[in-house]
Amino acid sequence: MINLYGLEIKKLETLMAAEGQKPYRATQLYTWIYEKGATSFDQMTDVSAKFREVLKAKYCLEIPSVFVRQDSADGTMKLLLKLKDESKVEAVLMRYNYGNVICVTSQVGCNMGCSFCASGLLKKTRNLTTDEMVGQVLVVNNLLREAGGGQRVTHIVVMGTGEPFDNYDNVLDFVRIANHPKALAIGARHITVSTCGLPDRIRQYAREGLQINLAISLHAANDEIRSKIMKINRVYPLDQLMSAVKEYEQLAGRRVTFEYILLAGVNDSLHDADELSDLIRGTLAYVNLIPYNPVIENLYERSSDEKVHAFLDRLTKRGVTATIRKEFGTDIDAACGQLRAKHSL
Ligand code: SAH
Repeated sequence: MINLYGLEIKKLETLMAAEGQKPYRATQLYTWIYEKGATSFDQMTDVSAKFREVLKAKYCLEIPSVFVRQDSADGTMKLLLKLKDESKVEAVLMRYNYGNVICVTSQVGCNMGCSFCASGLLKKTRNLTTDEMVGQVLVVNNLLREAGGGQRVTHIVVMGTGEPFDNYDNVLDFVRIANHPKALAIGARHITVSTCGLPDRIRQYAREGLQINLAISLHAANDEIRSKIMKINRVYPLDQLMSAVKEYEQLAGRRVTFEYILLAGVNDSLHDADELSDLIRGTLAYVNLIPYNPVIENLYERSSDEKVHAFLDRLTKRGVTATIRKEFGTDIDAACGQLRAKHSL
């Protein structure tokens, strides 16, 4: 059975053409499942009964089920979702003043091995399929609909468990479905894909002609520190990453966001801030400073607020645009892989 939620419009059009259907059939199906929220083929009253039978024989409309739900006092909702094969993945909804942001998981576990990240405690067992990523958004949209008030997901960050560029094709199809006006209809500028920095994939992404935001998890401005905290840097050191970022900026005409977690005594000195501003000079990049969520016992500590602000001031003085990321759901294990780790380890 093919899950209809996993089909990017061109793939759906090709399949419909193979069924001898007219091109409009694909958009008609999109309208039914995304705009009108149909959950069965029988609801599609303007599709002939005969073709509905064809669809029922070959296609399904399945979304993950909610295994655990945690609601935070600040409105953050953390879900542990169960997939067809019983795998569990996290999705988080955060309420910013500008909209409802979902953090989507791209893999079951992760192999990138960043030393500060709880997601990597569980190794990758498989990639998520496109429909499983679309399904995370649909589950959250359904919960928002049930809660009333006309809310829906308005922004997507692919920053949950997994490395999106290690699951490139499925993630790209997912963001196309997220962005398609007849599907999830989320503006490209409201979608962000975050990578730990795979240069070949960044170059490939630069050529997709997408307006979707790209964030790079940098977290250190020299190879010595970065290789210590992010294994991937031993394979792709900073000069390779930075040249791919520059190529992306040129080809895509977009700036990237650099994410930088502040770890006490590791990468949070003023000297580190200077190195960071030197490293990204010549790019249009913007820096998002992330207060570390201490998830792995005794390994790292969060930088003090004082240090964080001193770091920010130093960057600003040196002409780097930077902000401090707002934190959500600290009362509900909402940080990066924590909920899943708690239920599986
Ligand atoms: N693999 C991708 C996307 C998933 S991680 C990537 O590396 O970008 C999403 C972001 O959360 C990354 O910037 C990651 O470094 C950060 N992160 C991981 N663990 C964290 C923690 N304990 N506290 C704060 N941020 C964390």
